[in-house]
Amino acid sequence: MHLKRIELAGFKSFAKRIELDFRPGVTAVVGPNGSGKSNISDAVRWVLGEQSAKSLRGAKMEDVIFAGSEGENHRNVAEVTLVLDNRDEQLRLPYEEVSVTRRVTRSGDSDYFMNKKPCRLKDVIDLFLDTGLSRDAFAIIGQGRVEQVISGKPEDRRAVIEEAAGVLKYRQRKKQAERK
Ligand code: ATP
Ligand code: MG
Repeated sequence: MHLKRIELAGFKSFAKRIELDFRPGVTAVVGPNGSGKSNISDAVRWVLGEQSAKSLRGAKMEDVIFAGSEGENHRNVAEVTLVLDNRDEQLRLPYEEVSVTRRVTRSGDSDYFMNKKPCRLKDVIDLFLDTGLSRDAFAIIGQGRVEQVISGKPEDRRAVIEEAAGVLKYRQRKKQAERK
C-alpha cells in the first residue's frame, strides 16, 4: 500500500483545489517557512480521523478551514482526499485503489467517505487498524515529537515508547479493571 495522491480544497493554507501526486519511494517536500509543508501532513492525519484540533495546531476544528488571505476569500468547507494504492490488499477492501475523504463545514457538519460513499469515522479507523497507518500510529512524526523523545522527562519518554510498542492500551485496560 502506498499513498498515491492527496487532493486538498479549502484546507488550511490550500484555498484552491490542489492535487499532490506521490510515487513509491522517498518524496521530500521543500519550501520556505510557513509555506504549508506541515499543513500537508496535518491533512493526512486529519483524514485518518484526528479529532484533536490542538494536535492539528488549531484551537477548534473549524481552524482547518481556509480562513482567507489578501485577495482570497475564506472558505466554508475544507475537504481532503487520500488516494491509496491497494494492489497488495493491505486494506481489507477488494479495490486496487481506495480513496478516503473527510469534509468539514463552518456550520459544524463533518463527513467521511470511502471510495466516495458516505461512511462513519469508525469505518475509517477500522480500515487502517493494524496497517501502521492508523491515527495513533507512528507513520507520521510531527515537528517537536522527536525532541519530546530526546529531551523529555523519563516518564514522558516511556509513554511514547509504550505507545509505539502497543503496550499503552493494556496498561489502560489494567487500570480500568483495577477500578472495578
Ligand atoms: P515551517 O518550515 O516553519 O515548518 P511549514 O511549511 O511547515 O513551515 P505550515 O505550518 O504548514 O508551514 O503552514 C503555516 C501557514 O499556514 C501559515 O502561514 C498559516 O497562516 C497558514 N494557515 C494555517 N491554517 C490556516 C487557515 N485555516 N487558513 C489560512 N491559512 C492557514
Ligand atoms: Mg512545518
